[in-house]
Amino acid sequence: MGVEGLTLIGARGAPMVEPFAARHLIAGAWQGSADGATFERLSPAHGVLVTRAAKGGAAETEAAIAAARAAFDDGRWSERSGKERATLLLRVADLIDRERERIARIETLEAGKPIAQARAEIEGAADLWRYAAALARTVAGDSHNSLGPDMLGLVLKEPIGVVSIICPWNFPFLIASQKLPFALAAGCAAVVKPSEMTPSTTVILGELLVEAGLPAGVVNIVLGYGQPVGAIMTTDPRVDMVTFTGSTAVGKGIVAAAAPTLKKVSLELGGKNPQVLFPDADLDAAVDAIVFGVYFNAGECCNSGSRIIVHEDIAEAVTERVVALSRKVTFGDPLDEATKVGAIVSPEHRAKIDAYVRGAVAAGAILRLGGAPLEVPGLGGQFYQPTVVAGVTPDMAIAREEVFGPVLSVLTFRTMEEAIALTNAAAYGLSAGVWSANVHTCLEFARRARAGTVWTNSWMDGFAEMPFGGMKESGQGRELGRYGLEEFLEVKTVQMRIGRTRAPWVAPSAAG
Ligand code: NAD
Repeated sequence: MGVEGLTLIGARGAPMVEPFAARHLIAGAWQGSADGATFERLSPAHGVLVTRAAKGGAAETEAAIAAARAAFDDGRWSERSGKERATLLLRVADLIDRERERIARIETLEAGKPIAQARAEIEGAADLWRYAAALARTVAGDSHNSLGPDMLGLVLKEPIGVVSIICPWNFPFLIASQKLPFALAAGCAAVVKPSEMTPSTTVILGELLVEAGLPAGVVNIVLGYGQPVGAIMTTDPRVDMVTFTGSTAVGKGIVAAAAPTLKKVSLELGGKNPQVLFPDADLDAAVDAIVFGVYFNAGECCNSGSRIIVHEDIAEAVTERVVALSRKVTFGDPLDEATKVGAIVSPEHRAKIDAYVRGAVAAGAILRLGGAPLEVPGLGGQFYQPTVVAGVTPDMAIAREEVFGPVLSVLTFRTMEEAIALTNAAAYGLSAGVWSANVHTCLEFARRARAGTVWTNSWMDGFAEMPFGGMKESGQGRELGRYGLEEFLEVKTVQMRIGRTRAPWVAPSAAG
């Protein structure tokens, strides 16, 4: 299962891990499950027990929803001023900074991601809490002073209520931080469910919320699986909104589950994100961005640049350069500072990645690099080789579906029309990129690509200020930016008559 010329970083020795005991946070109290049920998480790189977590059932989920509902309805948070909310969110951001190393290490052990990357994610998460704190002081509606002399119209922005927050395993702390501080800035109460594969850092976040002085019940955390925890969070009538990040299949199920109670649903789902290369592109920069785009987080990334669409004239040269640079990317022990790509999250997921590659080869694609599980010296966990598949055609599953692994598909084009058609052929529409020295080419692509984010001559830059989300089957709603706050706000219209000027509908003289 080895492959010639890759850059591997072997084990630093078995990590000394005291398993994290993760419990639910319900109505301000840390607790196990009523039936004593637990589940375990092994480090995907080392196979070491990292976490033993309480496994939530209906009792815990319903108690958490009840706590959030009570907390919202009595105004203990929803009626706090923007200044008070901002002060608390800033305190949380400082506590995240204080705990960065601890959070990053557990994130690395549970998710298998490189420690240096995990640290950067936690730093980025603290920035989101600060940004949301600033937004908390901007919650404002409109006034209409032109409705006539006897009428004043007000548009109030109110917190939407109780929000279910359901998160995936690939960026556990960061994604929770793309949702929760914005919901809190708006004045909402929440029930949060981290993925069953990565529960611990959300629990640490809960500890920091308690330490920062958030009133009990405003944020509740229930650990466990989609069934029954996630399912109850999407159907219970006491919940006003669901915000979900995860797979498109589960996202569609959530829309259906939330329909009978007409909850607002915000979805951040999968992607099949292309980088399009024109012949006049800066190829040094583009090749590096392609390699970054596909191997970052082992490709387990909604924004993975999992397909490139390259002009025919440069396709072979680009493919050769991508293969050569791929060999230099450091794959291996996530606890090593120099590692750029860590482990695959589970054996089942690695098998799924492998099946996509085998399917593509069987359908006629050409393996230019990798294409098999990877053995890293001294590590028993699951890894996958950096993989480049050329000769991919749009009908192949690997060109259309989310592989979620370190696997790049290479497609080619001749004209802008073809490049746009290939870009928009996927059912997904999360992000897309274009590489060209010509600003007109970049702008035309940016305007015609059906994607929530377009990068020109870059890939995967992100800012708290910039909204993020998908078109088509990549989701609905937006996170981050001021749109990230608006998602959690309801609009209320107030029309105020000035004086006793309302013309009676029934004339008083008509009264019998
Ligand atoms: P997943 O859909 O399997 O699980 C996500 C969460 O949903 C987990 O907490 C899971 O327990 C829960 N869940 C499962 N079934 C449920 C149900 N019936 N009702 C309610 N909740 C349920 O996704 P995953 O494997 O954890 O994450 C990978 C996916 O997430 C990929 O498709 C990826 O593209 C997507 N993702 C999207 C973004 C984005 O912002 N667009 C970001 C990261 C990940």
